[in-house]
Amino acid sequence: MPDGLIVKALSGFYYVLPQEAGGPGGQVVQCRAKGIFKKRGITPLVGDRVTFTPTSHGEGTVDEIKPRISELIRPPVANMELALLVFAVAEPSPSLLLLDKFLVHTENAGLKAAICLTKTDLLAEPGMEDTAARLDEWEAAYREIGYDVLRCSAKTGEGIDRVLEYLAGRMTVFAGQSGVGKSSLLNRLIPGLDLATNEISEKLGRGRHTTRHVELIAHPAGGCIADTPGFSQLDFAGIDAERLGSCFVEIGRMAGDCKFRGCLHLSEPSCAVIAAAESGAIRRSRYEHYLQFLKEITDKKRRY
Ligand code: GDP
Ligand code: ZN
Repeated sequence: MPDGLIVKALSGFYYVLPQEAGGPGGQVVQCRAKGIFKKRGITPLVGDRVTFTPTSHGEGTVDEIKPRISELIRPPVANMELALLVFAVAEPSPSLLLLDKFLVHTENAGLKAAICLTKTDLLAEPGMEDTAARLDEWEAAYREIGYDVLRCSAKTGEGIDRVLEYLAGRMTVFAGQSGVGKSSLLNRLIPGLDLATNEISEKLGRGRHTTRHVELIAHPAGGCIADTPGFSQLDFAGIDAERLGSCFVEIGRMAGDCKFRGCLHLSEPSCAVIAAAESGAIRRSRYEHYLQFLKEITDKKRRY
């Protein structure tokens, strides 16, 4: 049975790109999943590595799903190695709250995350000095926690080569609010892709449809990018209060020094995290977002 990679899932069909020794090859095969998956409550996902059996008319059946190295529920995509969290330097201004929310989800999913700041051309405009200084400070803070930060402009092409290099050979999922420039960036990264951007759909007099499905796109440096409708409804389902701390990596690292095991770093005595937030060793905004998410999680638990 040939090996394949699910590149698209739509209306009960799975589109499987055959994988030959050394990489993808051949035509995408439209497959159904074997009945047994449904019985076991398993849904094949975009990004799944599978074996499939070709049937008639160039169609096929997915027989087996190989073990996943990562799994995201929203967007539903498997085996991603990297999440590129895309923020614009302006228009819209980046939100650290949203960034930290993304980071909690990627850490929870065991996914490496990197931050990509787009629209850097806007920083050259008059009156952007304060924004530029603020971004430098943010970049340094997140680098210190351990996240790579890339900067680019889809408009001028600045930094695009570095982004491409960074994504080479990796399975990457893009995440970011609508309007930050994900489609423009993808179009820059992948010649000939020609995704509709907001601008273009405005010109055509209709809004771009936002409920696009997840699709894997091979990129020229090797690897694939999952173009997704976005991490739209991020809630903390599946993340409990005890686990949240470990999703803030610097808090997780410090939690071992708290006096009590299972310390939630709220007001417990001899809490290393509270002390670090007070001394500035942990960034204040990170600790505040931690508290805010913790409250969301515990409030929800109380309601149900
Ligand atoms: P998406 O919703 O994240 O896919 O964002 P789009 O790619 O559709 O871009 C949203 C808007 O930002 C469009 O009007 C783009 O022209 C604009 N845009 C995208 N990238 C850049 C950039 O690098 N610089 C500037 N100045 N504008 C950009
Ligand atoms: Zn603590």
